Amino acid sequence: MPTAPLDNSSRQEPLRLLAVHAHPDDEASKGAAMMAFYAARGVDVMVATCTGGERGSVLNPALEDNAAAKRDLAGLRRTEMANAQRELNVQHRWLGFMDSGLPEGDPLPDLPFGCFALEPLERAAAPLVKLVREFRPHIIISYDENGGYPHPDHIMAHKVAVEAFNAAGDPKRYPGTGSPWEPLKLYYDRAFNPERFTALHNALVEAGVDSPYAERIAAWQEADAEGHRLPAPTHPTTTQIPCGDYFETRDRALKSHRTQVDPNGFFFAVDAETQRKIWPWEDYSLIMSRVDTKLPETDLFAGLR
Ligand SMILES: [Zn+2]
Repeated sequence: MPTAPLDNSSRQEPLRLLAVHAHPDDEASKGAAMMAFYAARGVDVMVATCTGGERGSVLNPALEDNAAAKRDLAGLRRTEMANAQRELNVQHRWLGFMDSGLPEGDPLPDLPFGCFALEPLERAAAPLVKLVREFRPHIIISYDENGGYPHPDHIMAHKVAVEAFNAAGDPKRYPGTGSPWEPLKLYYDRAFNPERFTALHNALVEAGVDSPYAERIAAWQEADAEGHRLPAPTHPTTTQIPCGDYFETRDRALKSHRTQVDPNGFFFAVDAETQRKIWPWEDYSLIMSRVDTKLPETDLFAGLR
């Protein structure tokens, strides 16, 4: 497997990457192997988690009756996050907002008072702008406009990440949050892209193994047969990070979020070794760049080294 050449020797200071996430556990399911890959190569990696995940549910059947989870899920999730952070060897900050919850029902209920998704943008983005000005990342990783999936906190996390990318370098914006710092590249995460799932699915079918992705793929094909197009990816993959050696690290980080992840569930249905053979990358879309770079890339820091 190719390893991106990483030469930091000529730089005065380390390269820095900031990944903006909505809830504790999102950093483990989207980009964890990439972050472990860069952290192991001397890059300063920071995860910012917008909310405490207070309105999440217990998604691991083994912990459904866990007393601590019933009494104080948010407290337990802080411990889980600290464990995941240790696995990935990254820094971490809570931005301090209240989980909005995933509204369900028809009609959808109003979002709860005081939650992250209802904050005015300037208030929601201020702690992240402050963090960008303090940590001074070269790269910011965010979700796309749909939040990757349409959870209101994910959409809000996207908005604050884009706002911080655009505003943190402007001395007139967000006064009192530190000296201006202009990040150089903004990427959207593509962890759940159809190309990856299709490749994994086809390889499993070819090997005569049951594919856990069959349902997902069938839904896409059905949409096609009825003349609908697949939801077109709004942002194509521009950048593939060859971080397959860190899939086990990613899985340990995921399992650290014990209340959120079923160790017998979807994420672990295909082992890391098999995934590495078929799709040894994590995928990103370059959205904005203030440095020259040539696409496609195999390094988020292309153009900076
Ligand atoms: Zn989330």
